[in-house]
Amino acid sequence: MVDAYIGLGSNLGKRRNNIDNSISLLARIGDLKVVDKASFYETEPVGPVQPWFVNTAIRIETDLEGQRILSLCKEVEKRIGRIDSLNWGPRLVDLDILLVGSEITHVDSLDVPHPEIQNRRFVLLPLVEINPGLVHPELNIPIEQLLDEAESDKKVIKIT
Ligand code: AMP
Repeated sequence: MVDAYIGLGSNLGKRRNNIDNSISLLARIGDLKVVDKASFYETEPVGPVQPWFVNTAIRIETDLEGQRILSLCKEVEKRIGRIDSLNWGPRLVDLDILLVGSEITHVDSLDVPHPEIQNRRFVLLPLVEINPGLVHPELNIPIEQLLDEAESDKKVIKIT
């Protein structure tokens, strides 16, 4: 059994509901247990003009490997997107696998640890909140240090 961390974000519709529904669905369809959830953070978007995101992260306990967790995340994105947008509109929720224990995987469809962890304060803040002692298994740097050193000027505001 390992601890894995998944980041969730939504910037359309009822953003917190989309995230909460995604977490419930993930726990229902996957062989995993959700053991921690960080606060919600309101996050200034990176890239093109678009609504602000709500982001959070969860810790799960599981025996599943990254590839299987990825399939579950895609299934959740698909189902939540379908429920809320009715058609094949934009996805209302994005799930990223951040860490799977100390697993290091770099294949076409999957990079674990997620390659953007160290660049995204909206990922580092909820990770530190859940587990301040966490060390990035590939960079071998404490995530608290990564947070101190993250250079993004994008606003990330804790909302709950
Ligand atoms: P996006 O929807 O832009 O987040 O991109 C999703 C795609 O990124 C998926 O189809 C995955 O194959 C790929 N991917 C690679 N590494 C990861 C990861 N750690 N978590 C989630 N998706 C990943």
